[in-house]
Amino acid sequence: MFMRKSTSLLRLPFVRAKSALVTAVPSDPAAYVANKLAQFDAMQFTPIRESTVSREMTRRYMSEMIDYAETDVRLEMHFWCIVGAGSAGLSCAYELSKHPDVKVAIIEQNVAPGGGCWLGGQLMSSMVVRKPANEFLDELEVPYDDKGDYVVVKHAALFMSSVLRKALLAPNVKLFNAVAVEDLLVKQEDEGVAVRGVVTNWSLVTQNHDTQSCMDPQVMEAKVVVTATGHDGPMGASSAKRLESLGALPSGLPGMGALDMNTAEDAVVQMTSEVVPGLIFAGMEVAEARGCNRMGPTFGAMLLSGQKAANLAIQALRR
Ligand SMILES: Cc1cc2nc3c(=O)[nH]c(=O)nc-3n(C[C@H](O)[C@H](O)[C@H](O)COP(=O)(O)OP(=O)(O)OC[C@H]3O[C@@H](n4cnc5c(N)ncnc54)[C@H](O)[C@@H]3O)c2cc1C
Repeated sequence: MFMRKSTSLLRLPFVRAKSALVTAVPSDPAAYVANKLAQFDAMQFTPIRESTVSREMTRRYMSEMIDYAETDVRLEMHFWCIVGAGSAGLSCAYELSKHPDVKVAIIEQNVAPGGGCWLGGQLMSSMVVRKPANEFLDELEVPYDDKGDYVVVKHAALFMSSVLRKALLAPNVKLFNAVAVEDLLVKQEDEGVAVRGVVTNWSLVTQNHDTQSCMDPQVMEAKVVVTATGHDGPMGASSAKRLESLGALPSGLPGMGALDMNTAEDAVVQMTSEVVPGLIFAGMEVAEARGCNRMGPTFGAMLLSGQKAANLAIQALRR
């Protein structure tokens, strides 16, 4: 919050922006810059005590941890947990946020959410999305060049920042980043094994289990867990690998098949499903668990897989 020493600074009119997506242009750029610099010279931050900052952060975070430990039946809230804040996980969170009677926790082991969707293929900028996934871009107000059968977003980061912003603005979504899902909460129920939550820890703790003594995790109970942990890797495909080790998935995960854009994108969306009761696979973890082809640098399947997973989750609750 800026506090001005002087209130007599010049207010300059803006030329009306042509579209909501274009930043307003100052009518007199030189005067605008001079005025802005004068404002910085005149400004001073409002005072604050250091302890206030500490208390503010701690109180809010701890109360959110308590709030998200389990479903609050009294408030008739239904709790979903999404593992992984990549393109699929965030698309899922945004779609779930449309339902005010659910609360959504996104668990992301990285400090920075977004997964592999800050760039296009081979670390280039633009993002190719095949139709009809452009409809999701329209909903998020992400501009693109229409090329007929596909569209191109000028930078993948534009999509990622948009879906991230929409998800975080929703009052029923909470992102716990720098928190890793170390394990699944698995229950033996009448119909067999079911997933009923996740086992979490600070990522820095997870990374240091081998160098420190035992550091126990936390548990978040959830009616439905969506797992979107991406490709196999040090953390990726973690739910699929855990279920395999428990014998809940056949041993020898197929892993993603060779690149074939035309079959892969449809297959990932079609195979986005509740593989084990309470656990829905989305994004590239679907390819790891089910063995469909990889699609390379086309991203439509990640967006639609996340959206489909959200609707499957809503349906699972009503069952
Ligand atoms: C080797 C390789 C091959 C690729 N091939 C393809 C391809 O064929 N097709 C394609 O579209 N894209 C490919 N990509 C690009 C990119 O990874 C994906 O398009 C896209 O990012 C996948 O989206 P996602 O949401 O499924 O997973 P990601 O974007 O990878 O997001 C997963 C998120 O989950 C988090 N996470 C993982 N495990 C845990 C855990 N235990 N706890 C908490 N958080 C966790 C990760 O930190 C990450 O942020 C490839 C990338 C690589 C590195």
